[in-house]
Amino acid sequence: MTTFLPDEPASPTRRVAALAERLLTPHGIDRYLELVDPMLVRNEIRGEVKRVRRQTADTVTLTLWTSKAWQGFRAGQYVRVSVDIDGVRRTRCYSPANSQHAAGRTLELTVKVDPKGLVSRYLYENAHAGMVLGISNPGGEFLLDERRPERLLFISGGSGVTPVLSMLRTLSHEGYPGDVVFLHYANTADDVLYRSDLAALADELPGGRVALGYTHADSGADLHGFFTPEHLDEVAPWWRDAQTYLCGPPGLMDSVRDAYTEAE
Ligand SMILES: Cc1cc2nc3c(=O)[nH]c(=O)nc-3n(C[C@H](O)[C@H](O)[C@H](O)COP(=O)(O)OP(=O)(O)OC[C@H]3O[C@@H](n4cnc5c(N)ncnc54)[C@H](O)[C@@H]3O)c2cc1C
Repeated sequence: MTTFLPDEPASPTRRVAALAERLLTPHGIDRYLELVDPMLVRNEIRGEVKRVRRQTADTVTLTLWTSKAWQGFRAGQYVRVSVDIDGVRRTRCYSPANSQHAAGRTLELTVKVDPKGLVSRYLYENAHAGMVLGISNPGGEFLLDERRPERLLFISGGSGVTPVLSMLRTLSHEGYPGDVVFLHYANTADDVLYRSDLAALADELPGGRVALGYTHADSGADLHGFFTPEHLDEVAPWWRDAQTYLCGPPGLMDSVRDAYTEAE
């Protein structure tokens, strides 16, 4: 006999679904539901592409609507995205860029093409509205403290912007009143992701500032060249006292870490 927990009302739909789940073992109901419509799955998570944007020449931004099992994420986490390519299921990690407080079951992912890579290139070339991707539960410990600090500094480079943007959007949703500086590096102006969103966030956050650094252009940015500790002195003189979040290519990560070790 099927039993239900007291706080889960045994609606006729739930009873039928639970019974079907048992009868359909070992494959489970999701194997059959996805033959009808992949978004009907109950226990696994799928994301249907609703919108495709190409913000820069080598990235694609996907807005997904997730299936019912999705329970949200915390800013800074990642999800594993699965896609079938030539009959083989491939899985890669991507960090949602939207706020953790965003309404509904929306997920925004920005994928930077690795020219020699498989999944990023496939998504860049083939993603279209209606495409359905496998999505995992979120994971990762790159998270904002539950108790928001008074000063925050975010540093990112390239596609490392995604988890950091999610944090900034989350703070904006929460009306974060503290000082927050976001220092983002890109090759040139053409490579800056989310440019207008970043400008809007700088306005929305009362103590907010966004500074751009171009590593391969001599003008047009707040800072030029690769990261140096002087960049921090310029955009966030209080950086030694701030809680700092860093996400980017290994060279950037190493030089920022060196600056902090030096400052200790
Ligand atoms: C926590 C986390 C979050 C991430 N978030 C994002 C994000 O938000 N946005 C984003 O764009 N990326 C993100 N990434 C990176 C992403 O997961 C993928 O690694 C990236 O998209 C490349 O995948 P790919 O399948 O295109 O490349 P792959 O096919 O995995 O190849 C990657 C590189 O490895 C080389 N390679 C492949 N096979 C071999 C081999 N057999 N021997 C030697 N070299 C090989 C390729 O030449 C290529 O340069 C994240 C990664 C992690 C771990």
